Amino acid sequence: MIGKRMEERYADIIVDISHENLDHTFSYRIPDHLSDRVAPGSRVLIPFGASNRQIEGFVLEITDRAKYDPSKVKDITEVVGDDSLVEQKLIRLAWWMKNRYGSTMNRALSTALPIRKKVKAVEKKNVVLVLPDEEAAQKLELFTKNKRMVARKRLLEELIKEKSIDYRLVTGKLNISASTVRYFCEENIAKIDSTRVYRNTVNKTDIMPSVSLTEEQQSIADDFRRDYESGRRDTYLLYGITGSGKTEVYMDMIESVVSNGRQVIVLIPEISLTYQTVMRFYRRFGDRVSTLHSKLSDGERFDQFERAKKHEIDIMIGPRSALFTPFDDLGLIVIDEEHEHTYKSDQMPKYHAREVAIELARLHDASVVLGSATPSVESYFAAKSGQFRLYTLTKRAKNASLPNVSIVDLREELKSGNRSIFSNKLREEIGKRLQNNEQVMLFLNRRGYAGFVSCRSCGKSIKCPHCDVSLSRHANGKLMCHYCGYEIPAVKKCPSCSSTLIGSMGIGTEAVEEQIKQLFPYASVLRMDADTTKQKGDYEQILSTFANREADILVGTQMIVKGHDFPFVTLVGILAADMSLNANDYRAGERTFQLLVQAAGRSGRDKCEGDVIIQTYSPDNYAIRAAAVQDYGAFFEEEMGYRKLLMYPPAGHILAVMIESRTDEAGEAFSRSLAQALSDGIIGRASLIGPTDATIRKIRDIYRHMIYVKSLDIDLITMIKDRAEAYFDENGNKDIRISFDLDPMNGY
Ligand code: ADP
Ligand code: ZN
Ligand code: ZN
Repeated sequence: MIGKRMEERYADIIVDISHENLDHTFSYRIPDHLSDRVAPGSRVLIPFGASNRQIEGFVLEITDRAKYDPSKVKDITEVVGDDSLVEQKLIRLAWWMKNRYGSTMNRALSTALPIRKKVKAVEKKNVVLVLPDEEAAQKLELFTKNKRMVARKRLLEELIKEKSIDYRLVTGKLNISASTVRYFCEENIAKIDSTRVYRNTVNKTDIMPSVSLTEEQQSIADDFRRDYESGRRDTYLLYGITGSGKTEVYMDMIESVVSNGRQVIVLIPEISLTYQTVMRFYRRFGDRVSTLHSKLSDGERFDQFERAKKHEIDIMIGPRSALFTPFDDLGLIVIDEEHEHTYKSDQMPKYHAREVAIELARLHDASVVLGSATPSVESYFAAKSGQFRLYTLTKRAKNASLPNVSIVDLREELKSGNRSIFSNKLREEIGKRLQNNEQVMLFLNRRGYAGFVSCRSCGKSIKCPHCDVSLSRHANGKLMCHYCGYEIPAVKKCPSCSSTLIGSMGIGTEAVEEQIKQLFPYASVLRMDADTTKQKGDYEQILSTFANREADILVGTQMIVKGHDFPFVTLVGILAADMSLNANDYRAGERTFQLLVQAAGRSGRDKCEGDVIIQTYSPDNYAIRAAAVQDYGAFFEEEMGYRKLLMYPPAGHILAVMIESRTDEAGEAFSRSLAQALSDGIIGRASLIGPTDATIRKIRDIYRHMIYVKSLDIDLITMIKDRAEAYFDENGNKDIRISFDLDPMNGY
């Protein structure tokens, strides 16, 4: 950086917005008479090249330094147009994200701007049923009889319903292999159509509300419509118990907005983005809908964004990154399961989709609807304090009642001599369901615990040499690090004291599966966790097998908590409810409550009544007690009291600053001096904690130190973050990295 004149302001200008050129910017001076009108996102006219021909560019960033010799920097000629281009809004959004969450403008821009890479347009292919209905029904009967034709049966069933299905949905969400599709073509059951004629995959006659709304649902939908049509824009929290039909309400709201010619983004956690969910939207809105998911290639993703820009679609459904769909007249953003922690990005800028959605909606004059059966404490607090409007759904839509929940005290089980992971009650109830041919889900909330190997004699655990975590035991006996993949063969003796009393602490899903097979040898058991869902399609495969009732029991981690409606599940067992309570962050209670309520909500979703058994060592814990009676209000009051006391969000804000370094000493020294610099002049308005080691001190041989800043004042937090960035620019070096996490969702 050469030359710094205080009074001058400069703009970084990009001439051609394309992803690859984001750091290819030019510096221009902002003349005084334009200083009020130039901001990130402004479209400006500039003299370019030796001939000074006038061309247009976008302002990305404003600084007080020129990139090169100030005497050679030219002036911006003029600001052109209003802020109506979608690129301008996305640049402004990126600027807002950079400031709030801390990152370079470049990273913020590459998060928010659609990628433009040279890729050939993706051909849209559909699988289309060619058999007449009657013959198709006969074929279906044939496939149904044969146990080995479940995939064919599944595909044909859907084709009979839909007639024509997007090829990517067939092979992706529906998890049908290419060879099955080929078989359908060879047998003239279906054909593949690549023309655009078939893009309209759903008959107009099918595009009808599939249900008539209940009274509760209708009054919310009507209220929203009245607001919307009278020009009122707001953030709404739709708090509706599990199975209350929130999706139906969203769809009605979406209808109000698209019928006004505006566009809608629907965020759904990636894991809930199943075929069934997507199909509900396709059925209602036809080919005006498109979906994004993390398995799309850059090219496919860009193709979807192009379609949005060209107004070929009005509704984009996807995980948090779908927020950046370049709709130019966005009217509504829906965030389903708004409490989900996947809405927080784990890469810089570490943005929260809820907050970004609200900012984006402001830029577009759009509304935001957040929905959940277990709202985040943040959102419910905002609703109670009048920042958001609260809608409540209190009844299950299909007249199903909420499940009966009972708590089993595992300490009592132990006292009575039962050392297994199943209480007597849970074992009995599982047996009953198996007899009645009903299904059971067993949920193990094992977040980061199970399988850790330690010595019962000396108490030491076997740790990864590169990361500060214990190794986990896998079925083949090997010990593995979940952070870096380091593995060693099975050990029989403690490396510290040579005792043979070495074993895994806690239980993992694998152990549950084994034990259940011993207890109920005739039951067929499926397991779903990180290990069984490594391949593309595994997740869908397990869910659809269970949904088809080809298994009696599904054992899994939090993954099984959402996604499907399984009408034949009448028992949900939560094996150790308190496992997630011991996590080291202030959201542990909230997360436990949410997981328990959501897991319980899987039971008895249809005509059969459902039961839930919560096993726990802490039956008196407020989160567990409130979850057992499904009392969100009680949970919220208690939790909020505790957040206020400690000034945790939403009572205040907390900024986690992480300093990563190659050596412990360098990290420690830098963190100390940084903490010193940050604490200057903030006494009484913010509190600074640290520096301390992160809970996991070391990952992949990189040391991690933390500084936390807490304050009621978000602007002060932002100021401190800026100060940290500046301090790092002046005093950091290449062996140190600094990153920020505002209101973190995970402990460090
Ligand atoms: P939530 O998202 O609140 O858990 P869903 O929207 O998935 O609930 O609805 C739960 C079930 O109830 C779904 O099978 C849905 O089709 C059904 N449902 C929702 N609203 C109605 C309604 N008004 N009439 C009949 N069925 C409904
Ligand atoms: Zn030992
Ligand atoms: Zn490791």
